[in-house]
Amino acid sequence: MNWTVDRYDLPLSNPFGIARETSETSETVVVELTHEGTTGIGAVTPSAYYGESAASVAETLPSLCQTVDRIGDPHAQQRIERELDDHAPDQPAARMAVSIAVHDLAARCLDLPLYRQWGLDPAAIPPTTYTVGIDTPERMAEKASEAAASGFGRLKVKLGTDDDRARLDAVREAAPDAELRVDANAAWTAEEAIDKTAWLADAGVTMLEQPVEADDIDGLRRVTAATEIPVAADESCVTASDVPRVADACDIVNAKLVKCGGLRPATRLLHTAEAHGLDLMLGCMVESNASIAAAVHLAPLVDYLDLDGALLLESDPYTGMPLDGDVFDLTSVSVGTGATRNPAFAESV
Ligand SMILES: [Mg+2]
Repeated sequence: MNWTVDRYDLPLSNPFGIARETSETSETVVVELTHEGTTGIGAVTPSAYYGESAASVAETLPSLCQTVDRIGDPHAQQRIERELDDHAPDQPAARMAVSIAVHDLAARCLDLPLYRQWGLDPAAIPPTTYTVGIDTPERMAEKASEAAASGFGRLKVKLGTDDDRARLDAVREAAPDAELRVDANAAWTAEEAIDKTAWLADAGVTMLEQPVEADDIDGLRRVTAATEIPVAADESCVTASDVPRVADACDIVNAKLVKCGGLRPATRLLHTAEAHGLDLMLGCMVESNASIAAAVHLAPLVDYLDLDGALLLESDPYTGMPLDGDVFDLTSVSVGTGATRNPAFAESV
């Protein structure tokens, strides 16, 4: 098996603000694994919040690829996952890139799209939200209006600022028919969040994601008990083993490949959350189609979808899955994840 590891600093169309930071680029690491003439593609945009960086991922990936090479069989996914876990237990982002590349490679060797290998129903995909990052109320209104005009019926609005209400009101006015979900990215205390739920509910907000700090499970529980708005745990729920801790403190769990280490761990997180009676969400970072496309194949499992990350990039070395309005068209994928090299990208650099 041959492999390549490449790093990209992908520019975003607009600076992307959340409560704790604003980013202008997406630091992306791509792995390509080639086995008997077939290539699988995987990528990750690691998050400093979870303790990883493009540099740490790029440093670890060669030894993870050597592990896959030594096993020598892209279908040996249980064994590959176990050995990658043993080798890089604290580096889920690095494992995610390899997980996607191995799954893409295995599905390509079988000449199947990934969702068909898993037997999932492409018609069960929920529409994706489009994320409006933190900016001035005027700019957030513009972005919301543009997103609604281009077919997104559900907007995820980032809050956690000194004037959240002005921002949400501006978005509401700019996109009066859109369903609004709010993500505070751990910015509020439980008391602040409970206060805000009154006007969030008045504005018709249909979901509140991570209102309080990641380890404030009691606060999360109090917010959930105080409002009719369904509350999602994101930063508070990283892997399947976190689910029992948050199960009676929220309504929804947001699974992300980058947090838990790839497609198999994300599937396990979703099944665990479902078994605890929670609703399921699949989310992402601002990241390349080379990672988003893989996550879309899990989308038939979930109730809420937030996989707009690649839409926020100015340019991407990979193309991914087409959207029909705000619904990803899995049936358009003929093999693997559907991510392919973007010929226009080479010309633009
Ligand atoms: Mg979130």
